[in-house]
Amino acid sequence: GKVRKFLRENLLTFLTVIGVVSGTLLGCGLRATGHNFTRREVMYFQYPGELFLRMLKCLIVPLLVSSIVSAIGSLDLSLSGKVGMRAIVYYMTTTVCAVMLGIALVTTIKPGKDPAYVQPTATKVLSKDTLTSDTLLDLIRNVVPENIAQATIASYRTKLVYDVNDTHAIKGHPETYKIEGEYQNGSNVLGLVFFSIVLGITLGKMGDKSMPLQNFFQSLSEAMMIITSWVIWISPLGVFFLVTAKIMEIDSFADLVGRLGLYFMTVLLGLFLHGFGTLSILFILATKKLPCRYIGKMGQVMATAFGTASSSATMPITIGCCDDMGLDPRITRFVIPIGATINMDGTALYEAVAAIFIAQLRKVEMSFGKIIAVSVTATAASIGAAGIPQAGLVTMVMVLDTVNLPAEDVSLILAVDWLLDRFRTTINVVCDALGAIIVATLSQGDIEKSRALQTERDGNNT
Ligand code: ASP
Repeated sequence: GKVRKFLRENLLTFLTVIGVVSGTLLGCGLRATGHNFTRREVMYFQYPGELFLRMLKCLIVPLLVSSIVSAIGSLDLSLSGKVGMRAIVYYMTTTVCAVMLGIALVTTIKPGKDPAYVQPTATKVLSKDTLTSDTLLDLIRNVVPENIAQATIASYRTKLVYDVNDTHAIKGHPETYKIEGEYQNGSNVLGLVFFSIVLGITLGKMGDKSMPLQNFFQSLSEAMMIITSWVIWISPLGVFFLVTAKIMEIDSFADLVGRLGLYFMTVLLGLFLHGFGTLSILFILATKKLPCRYIGKMGQVMATAFGTASSSATMPITIGCCDDMGLDPRITRFVIPIGATINMDGTALYEAVAAIFIAQLRKVEMSFGKIIAVSVTATAASIGAAGIPQAGLVTMVMVLDTVNLPAEDVSLILAVDWLLDRFRTTINVVCDALGAIIVATLSQGDIEKSRALQTERDGNNT
């Protein structure tokens, strides 16, 4: 009886985890046959997974906007302020802890000090990448979109265009490049979040006049969640095909145990310690409850994060999971979409470890000042990274730039990034979900107070 009930309630989670495991096994099995898979064969294999991913992605923009607007609009203003503050404090604390843990690990383990590692000589390719300052300016620029329709399809990027005829056109010769901006594919989620917050606050202030829009966003958000509950049923198959195809596609596993093995293990250890150490301790302190029971319920979310390597694509499922755990939907819909966009602990930890690892390979001295610079830019890089596969690798250019390393050096860690990406995304998403529970617990008193006030007001009106 009990076992059956447990299985029924957790069937989907169970199947999704099986999807990841059997996908891994099948992928490895197919490789073991020795057959060299062509891109086309991998593409066919990936196809069902791709459909699953597309369905999730398609929900992101409408769900994100409608959730944030309706959640903030329905909380009263001082309450949403308090909830927002708590969420921001949680996001910042956990991200900073993650970066510090990463730095502590990489400076003690020193994965880049391996003498057996053959040092590739620094390539003096003309870098077309931007400087740290440009990336930071772009981050803020994207927060303030100039066109909300465009923000749903593209974000802004600054580019430095070097004069290719000038061989000195490397960093440090600012006169040799032009600064140009362009729009890149992929929605500007940061801008959408900001706009939705402002719209939500405004609706909250407008009173009765806001009702048509409030109702619109409310029902849009509900509709998106119903579609999510359908899409979730495909997730076991979806992650199965995504994981199988990924394993078929990679060049070799050699780097996981070979020269990059120590670096890989350092990041993995950091993610593990952050999840089971730092986050768990914070959770116990804030809620006076043990996290294990909740983490157990996040199996579906973790398996999807691992399978898709995208916090944004996982967001609908994260919201659904928080609903299942009985959290106040107004809190969940407020903090999860924002968390999925800016709170990426796993990414922050990885950025710090990777940048210092590369510096160790290149024998760059790391002064205290440089370490501080790395931690600040790693935090910013994690906020700026989109919740899509390997976005962290792109924003890492900014962290490398602070220690004067060229952007091309990300190629040194490329070989293992596909797998690390999946692990860090899982931590990113777990951290968001735990945050929602913490914020909901801490805000319970305020919510009850405001509800009591509301009933009193309603009582006076009638
Ligand atoms: N893939 C990660 C995420 O979606 C971002 C990253 O590349 O670190 O959370």
